[in-house]
Amino acid sequence: MAKVGFYKDENVVPLEMHKVRIVQKLTLPPLEQRLACIQGAGYNTFLLQNADVFLDMLTDSGVNAMSDQQQAAMMVADDSYAGSSTFTRLAAKLRDIFGMQHFLPAHQGRACEHILAKVFVAPGSVVPMNYHFTTTKAHITVQGGIVEELVVAEGLAVTSAEPFKGNMDCERLADCIQRYTPGKIAFVRVEAGTNLIGGQPFSLQNLRDVREVCDRFGVMLVMDASLLADNLHFVKTREEACRDMSIRDITRAMADCCDILYFSARKLGCARGGGICIRSEAHYRAMRGLVPLFEGFLTYGGMSVREMEAMTVGLEETMDADVISQGPQFIGFMVDELVKRGVPVITPAGGLGCHIDAMRFVDHIPQTQYPAGALAAALYIAGGIRGMERGTLSEQRAPDGSEPLASMELVRLALPRRVFTLSQVLFAVDRLEWLYKHRRLIGGLEWSEEPEILRFFFYGRLTPKGGWSEKLAHQFRKDFGDCL
Ligand SMILES: *Cc1c(COP(=O)(O)O)cnc(C)c1O
Repeated sequence: MAKVGFYKDENVVPLEMHKVRIVQKLTLPPLEQRLACIQGAGYNTFLLQNADVFLDMLTDSGVNAMSDQQQAAMMVADDSYAGSSTFTRLAAKLRDIFGMQHFLPAHQGRACEHILAKVFVAPGSVVPMNYHFTTTKAHITVQGGIVEELVVAEGLAVTSAEPFKGNMDCERLADCIQRYTPGKIAFVRVEAGTNLIGGQPFSLQNLRDVREVCDRFGVMLVMDASLLADNLHFVKTREEACRDMSIRDITRAMADCCDILYFSARKLGCARGGGICIRSEAHYRAMRGLVPLFEGFLTYGGMSVREMEAMTVGLEETMDADVISQGPQFIGFMVDELVKRGVPVITPAGGLGCHIDAMRFVDHIPQTQYPAGALAAALYIAGGIRGMERGTLSEQRAPDGSEPLASMELVRLALPRRVFTLSQVLFAVDRLEWLYKHRRLIGGLEWSEEPEILRFFFYGRLTPKGGWSEKLAHQFRKDFGDCL
């Protein structure tokens, strides 16, 4: 990672090691329009039209900026159903980076999970993991399997100084395997840049310890590498023993611990698509038949050749410390600025995005009135910024109609890689600070239309209790005058 000095030490900011050559115009709709839009969207940020959004921080999936080299490679893609040289280039790049012989393409990350679960998970089998991801858990439970989450205790602490909150608790892992008997374990899964607990990494040492446990009991180790880029950056910058290793060496050392790794290329490699890298011929053969059935022929797996070319170049660019440091550095900057202003956030900063702790931000709103959902709606009103609720709204009701409360109430503000500038990040920080000052004006939400499943994701609509959004808008006009 390039180390650039600043003359005035106290003003150090992350510095972009790229320049912008294609831009997309943004508009910040005026307050009255934002109010109408969020009402029209039923206070559900998923239902906002992107044209009405100023900073879209909903997700990092499929919206990372591509490089000029990726765009150029897309123009020379070799389109053929079988034997495409585009596929040959991609498979060779993956072999070169991860050192695994075999590759199966799939249309995105969850498709890899579908194939893995179908082949390795049976009713009653168990998949121990550091933490689940939504689609992972769904595919495992659909096959009748059970997920056991064994992340270290610090992983679930909102504020912490632990640099590797995504680490697996290896003692609990060994206990878990013994409790179920090794024969019941489908595989052990480690998720790089653990998504749902704030993009938190595990260390290379922890991965090696997990491998040791797997070897002791003869079980397979699978890595979800979708958020590997962030995890690589954190290993390089936070793990003393890896300080002098190159990103390429760290990557290989991680892959060497695993039997299989899979990824969503909507994140890893800043493209689209996904795939599974496999060490053993037997595992490859066990999964191969499902690719033509569910994805597409073995040389494209549901992806376009252009996506595959962009992925090949994007994977190589992931080996560049300057490239992968941009996201985590910007997120780290945003988290630091919010902490300075007293706004409650998850610490330490992870990858993927900045996570606002709604439980502390709007501590006057009971969980049954969806504090994180309300805060996400309020932030759109305050600045046209779209985040994602990660709390009780994202949970399902129990079969008896009762509502399990989430263990954390977060608003995730994703920072798609190389998309936003530092001034846009500062704008978001400024509006969050204003909102925090007036947090008592924010009230709860209640359902007006509640879907039975995936209620936030689908077309669930809510209303603000006591009409708080109008009061918040009134305060905005008072403080910001006629500014947008
Ligand atoms: C996004 C993601 C997935 C799923 O990938 P898609 O391409 O969205 O299907 C799986 N695992 C993790 C850790 C992810 O972040």
